[in-house]
Amino acid sequence: MSDETTQRAADGGASSSGHGAGRSAGGARPAAGGRKFFRRKKVCKFCTEKIDAVSYRDVRLLQQFVAERGKIVPRRLTGVCTTHQRRLTRAIKQARNIALLPFAARY
Ligand SMILES: [Zn+2]
Repeated sequence: MSDETTQRAADGGASSSGHGAGRSAGGARPAAGGRKFFRRKKVCKFCTEKIDAVSYRDVRLLQQFVAERGKIVPRRLTGVCTTHQRRLTRAIKQARNIALLPFAARY
């Protein structure tokens, strides 16, 4: 039975806050509403041009949605709608398989 009660009371007690010394003025934000990125109105290119089926042969079209390295540009950047992005992805992958598009660009 060794009950050593090490009562180390918080020595110092430096945190002596609580003297209502004025409110910290927290609302000093410059009401920045505008974003720095200019964004065009994002409408799906395929919807506007009424391209229903995305053809894998249309390389020039597909290349607009492929980044330099050969990656497919995400939807949030291009503004393509979900349906068309899916078709586009398929088309790009098909095009890659027949070497119309690169899997990854060489450096
Ligand atoms: Zn669309």
